[in-house]
Amino acid sequence: MPSPAESANLMEAVVSLAKRRGFIYPSSEIYGGLNGFFDYGPLGSELKKNIRDCWWNDMVRRREDIVGLESSIIMHPKVWEASGHVAGFTDPLVDCKVSKQRYRADQLFFAPVIVDGKTIGYVSALESEKTAEDLQAAAESFKRKKAVQGALAAVVPRDFTEARPEEIELIPSPATGEPGSLTPPRSFNMMFQTNVGAMSDASSVAYLRPETAQGMFVDFKNIVDTTRVKLPFGIAQIGKSFRNEITPRNFIFRSREFEQMEMEYFIHEDADWAKCHEEWIAWCEAWLKSIGLPDSHLSRYTHPKEKLAFYSRGTVDIMFKYPFGVQELWGIAARGSYDLTQHAKASGKPQELFDEATKKKFVPHVIEPAVGVDRILLAVLCAGYAEEDVTDEKGNVEKRTVLRLSPRIAPVKVAVLPLIKNKELLVARAKDLHAKLKRKYAVQYDDGGAIGKRYRRQDEAGTPWCVTIDFDTIEKPGDLFTLRERDSMKQRRITEAELFALLDEQVY
Ligand code: ATP
Repeated sequence: MPSPAESANLMEAVVSLAKRRGFIYPSSEIYGGLNGFFDYGPLGSELKKNIRDCWWNDMVRRREDIVGLESSIIMHPKVWEASGHVAGFTDPLVDCKVSKQRYRADQLFFAPVIVDGKTIGYVSALESEKTAEDLQAAAESFKRKKAVQGALAAVVPRDFTEARPEEIELIPSPATGEPGSLTPPRSFNMMFQTNVGAMSDASSVAYLRPETAQGMFVDFKNIVDTTRVKLPFGIAQIGKSFRNEITPRNFIFRSREFEQMEMEYFIHEDADWAKCHEEWIAWCEAWLKSIGLPDSHLSRYTHPKEKLAFYSRGTVDIMFKYPFGVQELWGIAARGSYDLTQHAKASGKPQELFDEATKKKFVPHVIEPAVGVDRILLAVLCAGYAEEDVTDEKGNVEKRTVLRLSPRIAPVKVAVLPLIKNKELLVARAKDLHAKLKRKYAVQYDDGGAIGKRYRRQDEAGTPWCVTIDFDTIEKPGDLFTLRERDSMKQRRITEAELFALLDEQVY
């Protein structure tokens, strides 16, 4: 288990590599950036596309029971009334009246400082992987400052949504360290509003979608009527979602514009939903491993029954061990027939299917696996990042930074490296190989600098293989290249056909 300092270093190293190598930039950086928005650079956009493509291929193309959809980002505002988002898609917001900082009440923790059984004041801290330690340290320092003698009780952290009215003005603001400036929590709707058409009055208000899922419910009937789907079947979609998060943080983990991959799996109202739910949780875990996330970093969190929405039958989150703590990566929810029923009521259009066996109409139930592309991308960067000491041919020890990305999602699959750049036959063979490879794969041609330096460049970009074309390739029989593996750094001779066979097996 890495210490908090190691974790902070890992996060810093990942953010720095992401910027340095063109994976991720802050959005609008020349204007100072915009909090909660990011741009994906040349390597980042390839990595993101590969994550999307793997999911789409495995979820849609390689299955017979799931179809794809691309619905619009701005939908009729009534969609969001029916779904409950207008009334209830809120987070509890707390303002600090002095610093003008805003906090999510459930991420702001506090505790009374109790000495010899008497409360002498309050301390507060923002949520982190060591909230309790921070509060304990703050309580000790508070006691020292107030010069109070006696035994300090261990702090019991609570979040600000649990603060009693009389406690609120005693809790210090994390920004100023002084009590008296925090407001009681109030509901803040996270949907971004816009106006459709030339008029900007109440009648033209629309929303940027906060999730892609509603597209699947609203088009449910269209898909049933225009395709040959039969229960159980799913509708899948990948696309941008927008949430005006109060506190975007942890790099791309919680941003205001992000991408989701969601699938609604419709089942008969009498089907064994718990079994289906479990099958989808297992599918999602296996899929995450198939793109290279280690088992050791994955866990499950089952939402307690009393915290579920009234219609929900159960929700399990697949959690990932990020450097800043174990956090939700993928939510798999059993939502009953809530969404279709809501849209049937609000639109006046029944959302039912006919059961041939019972001759009765019914509203299907749904299991929903919903995941964020950006959260997966951050997970693969954090899990894949390593710094190692390696010894070169001359016996010198040097540091190498390597991104161990699965070949399935690596932005560049192979780098083609001519040993030198001024030997005509050698360059011609390298260019020929590069041209053949790039018809099928994302590859790079790199002839700049010493071969060792070129390997390091590719290690940092997560490229699984480098092939070097050298004098033996063109002078000796067999047309053999040197294949160098990123992780083991082992080298072996390989033919063009063997290289294509390797790629065919590993990149799918
Ligand atoms: P959280 O509790 O972290 O806010 P959530 O439970 O609201 O997430 P869902 O509404 O279930 O999230 O969305 C499904 C998935 O979309 C999440 O599991 C996550 O991977 C992704 N996601 C949600 N909000 C964000 C965000 N602000 N930035 C990046 N990804 C997000």
